[in-house]
Amino acid sequence: MTTSSAGMQPGRRRVVLLGATGSIGRQCCDVIGRFPDRFELIGVAAGSDVVGLTEVVERFNVPRAAVVDPRPGAALPAGMGVGLEAACELAALDCEVVCVAIPGAAALRPTMAALDAGRTVATATKEVLVMAGELVKARAASGGARILPVDSEHSALWQCLRGERAEAVRRLVLTASGGPFRQRDPATFSAVTVDEALRHPTWTMGPKVTIDSATMMNKGLEIIEAHFLFDVAYPDIAVVIHPTSIVHSFVEFIDGAVIAQLGVPDMRVPIALALADGERLPGIAAPVQLTGGAPLDFFEVDSARFPAVALARAAGERGGVAPAVLSAANEVAVAAFLDHRIGYDGIVPLVAETIEAAPGLPAPTLADILDADGWARRFASAHLAGAVSTA
Ligand code: MG
Repeated sequence: MTTSSAGMQPGRRRVVLLGATGSIGRQCCDVIGRFPDRFELIGVAAGSDVVGLTEVVERFNVPRAAVVDPRPGAALPAGMGVGLEAACELAALDCEVVCVAIPGAAALRPTMAALDAGRTVATATKEVLVMAGELVKARAASGGARILPVDSEHSALWQCLRGERAEAVRRLVLTASGGPFRQRDPATFSAVTVDEALRHPTWTMGPKVTIDSATMMNKGLEIIEAHFLFDVAYPDIAVVIHPTSIVHSFVEFIDGAVIAQLGVPDMRVPIALALADGERLPGIAAPVQLTGGAPLDFFEVDSARFPAVALARAAGERGGVAPAVLSAANEVAVAAFLDHRIGYDGIVPLVAETIEAAPGLPAPTLADILDADGWARRFASAHLAGAVSTA
């Protein structure tokens, strides 16, 4: 290994990876494995996959590991911590970056623990900012911590906004592939199978975000995520459909200039950029071929086909616990669809009914948010079983 031409070998960045065995976690390990002179995994956590986590520990010789909720009877290696508190301890370890790739609301407490310890958090879990954006930002500010996006659209916006003043921004525009049902007759949505909904045209991702992409709830959640990450008002965050997923998002500036970020759909690019704190590493992906390649087409979102986008935007604008209720109800609805307990066309109506029934709360504490999350899960679950209580 040679030293850099500047004569200074940058120190290895110590990384804690929470959610090491999921889709993002595995790609994170791939990036770290390719740059052993740049990154050092010092802590890893997983939800329940002890075998997968043990493989990561052995491959990278990771000194600290924790599993949040091991499957009954799983044989735990010596020294592996158990439970959410153990994962939160890892999140607070002395390191350069904590990568949060735990899906859903379970990522909230470990993210808070990392921010309280003043760590830079690279977040792949949009639900954390959706649920508790105000609180997360306040915690980050008081601890001097930073939040870096791993989500591809937000990484794109981050790249487009580098070196620009906030006052120069006119609008953020998130791109969406439109998923597998962009052109399917909505009258047939009740017949959509789980397999069809899991067949995303451009991205390979975990099941929750793939279903969210089919309904476009994913883009709705990303509007809220962008609002908090970049301090841009909701009316100034737009969504367009871009079926080939080459333009990952763009920014319109007040002078009429538009800056976009393009690339092949490969999550390792935003992952590497966040792990390296904005520095570009060589050879993460091949550059996208623009001549003779896939078309760069853009379309308006059909809100009758994709009501989840407006539903999420309204929840974001309402604020308080509404985004947390949206996100929790959506997690229940998606899990129920994946479990064949509701139809595809039942997902968004269940989320809408839950939001409608939810009590408003303007300035929630973390406890309020967790209460609202629990309430929404109970309400949505009860509604699934056809036994909704109005209490
Ligand atoms: Mg995304």
